[in-house]
Amino acid sequence: MSQISKTDWEARYEQLQIEGRCFINGQYREAQQQQTFDCISPIDQRLLARVASCDQEDAELAVSNARQTFVSGVWSRLAPVRRKAVLLRFAELITEHGEELALLETLDMGKPIGDSLAVDVPATECAIRWSAEAIDKIYDEVAATGHDELGLVTREPVGVVAAIVPWNFPMMMACWKLGPALASGNSVILKPSEKSPLTAIRLAALALEAGLPAGVLNVLPGYGHAVGKALALHMDVDTLVFTGSSRIAKQLMIYAGESNMKRVWLEAGGKSPNIVFADAPDLGEAARTAAAAIAFNQGEVCTAGSRLLVEASIKDLFVEKVANALQEHWQPGHPLDPQTRVGALVDQGQTDTVLGYIRAGQEEGARLVVGGRRVRQESGGFFVEPTLFDDVTNEMRIAREEIFGPVLSVISFEGFEEAIAIANDTIYGLAAAVWTRDLSKAHLASKALRAGSVWVNQYDSGDMTAPFGGFKQSGNGRDKSLHAFDKYTELKATWIKL
Ligand code: NAD
Repeated sequence: MSQISKTDWEARYEQLQIEGRCFINGQYREAQQQQTFDCISPIDQRLLARVASCDQEDAELAVSNARQTFVSGVWSRLAPVRRKAVLLRFAELITEHGEELALLETLDMGKPIGDSLAVDVPATECAIRWSAEAIDKIYDEVAATGHDELGLVTREPVGVVAAIVPWNFPMMMACWKLGPALASGNSVILKPSEKSPLTAIRLAALALEAGLPAGVLNVLPGYGHAVGKALALHMDVDTLVFTGSSRIAKQLMIYAGESNMKRVWLEAGGKSPNIVFADAPDLGEAARTAAAAIAFNQGEVCTAGSRLLVEASIKDLFVEKVANALQEHWQPGHPLDPQTRVGALVDQGQTDTVLGYIRAGQEEGARLVVGGRRVRQESGGFFVEPTLFDDVTNEMRIAREEIFGPVLSVISFEGFEEAIAIANDTIYGLAAAVWTRDLSKAHLASKALRAGSVWVNQYDSGDMTAPFGGFKQSGNGRDKSLHAFDKYTELKATWIKL
C-alpha cells in the first residue's frame, strides 16, 4: 500500500503537466487537423487535458513513418540482445516514473491509486521486461531434411503492427502488446482508448528516452471510428492486435477482409462463471474471492467473475457471505485515497450502462441483495455500489450480456453436469473458476469448461509465464507467454540445396 497520502496525491495532481499530443516519428505533435477532444477525469469531471483527436491523415503519416523505420532496419535488424537492452531500460523507466504513471492512470480512468501502483505499474513494467528477456533466448529451427538439403525455419517480424487497446487497464493492455511486438523487431502504432489515452501518450516519451529509435513506436489517440478504423482498413498495416469488446472485434475482422487481409488478433469480452461446489475447501475464502472478482477495478475487468454459480445446498449461506464481503470491503471511495478499493466508473456512458443493467435485473425478476445505487454524486464523479443479485437465471440479460461493471449475478445449480452446462451456455469463453476439494472434479471441470483460463480454488491468477486469451467470442490468439510472439512474427521456410 502506498505511503503517499490523499493530500499528497492531490497536490501532485495540481502540479501535473499532462501531455495530450500524439507521438509520431519520435516527436509529440498536434493532430494534423488540429482537432482535440476533452479528456475528463471520472473522479470529479475535471478537464485533465485536451487530447489530439487523430484521424486518417495522422494514421497515414504514422504508418508511413513506421514502414520507413521498419525497412531501414534500425530496429528490425538490430541483434535481439541489443533490442533487449533498450527494452530493459524502458522497463526501468516505467518503474522510475511509476508514481507519475499511476497518478495519470487513476485520474484518467478512475481506478484506486493503490491498485494503479500495486497492480498496473508493476504489470506494465513486467510485460516489457519479460518480453525483452525472452527475445535473445528464442531459437529458430532446422527442418528434418535429407542429407543434401538444409531447411531453415525462421521467424521474422511482421512489419507494421497496429495495436488498438481499451480503457480498463490502459497501460497494462498496451504493454502486453508492445512487449512482444517491439522485442520481435516490429514498428508499432498504438491507439489507446479515447476514454483513457494519457499513460499511452506518456509511455512513448519513456520508450524514446530508453533508446527506442524514432518511428518504432507511435501513439495515436483518437476515436475508434476515426483513427482506429483508419488503421484497421490501412493497406500497409501488416498486423492488427486488439483488446476490446467482441462487437468491435468482429468489425475489425471485416475491415481486414475489406482491405489487405492483415493478420487480426483479438482479445475480447467475457461473462465468466465462478462455480462454487458445496465441497469448496473454505466457503469464507470463496465468498471473499467472489466479491473481489466482481468489485476489483469497479468490475471493469474482462475476466470479472460476473456469473456466480453456487450449488443449491449452500446457496443461501454463500450469498449471505458474499453480501457481507461486498458491504464490508468493497464500498466506493475517493480514488486518490490509498485506502480506497473501489473507484469511479470510467465515464457517464459506462455509469448509465451499469445502472441500466441494474434496472433490467430488477425488471426481469432477479432479487437485489445489496448495492444498486449511484453514490458520491456530490463529488461530480461516477461511483456505483457493487451490486449483488440473487435468483438469477442464465436467460436474464444480466447473466447473458457483459455489463463491465460491479454487478454480480448468482445462479444456483444441482450437481456437476448442470454447473458445466450453465457455465458454457454463453457466447464468451474467456475465463472460469471452480471451487471444490475434489481433485478429480476440479480436473474434469477444467477439461469441460470452454474457456481460455480456468482457476481452481482461486480467481484471476496469472502472470507473464502463461498465455491469456479466450475461446469463442472472447477472441483468438493469446497475450503473454512465449505464445504471444506468434502474433508478431511470420514463419519462413528457406530451402538450401547442398
Ligand atoms: P471497445 O471495443 O469499445 O473499444 C476498444 C478499442 O477499440 C478502443 O480503443 C476504441 O477506440 C477502438 N474502436 C472502437 N470502434 C472502433 C472501430 N470501428 N475501428 C477501430 N477501432 C475501434 O472496448 P472498450 O469499451 O474500450 O473496452 C471494454 C471491452 O474490452 C470489454 O468488452 C472487455 O471485456 C474487453 N477487454 C478484453 C480483455 C482481454 O484481454 N480479453 C482485456 C480488457 C478488456
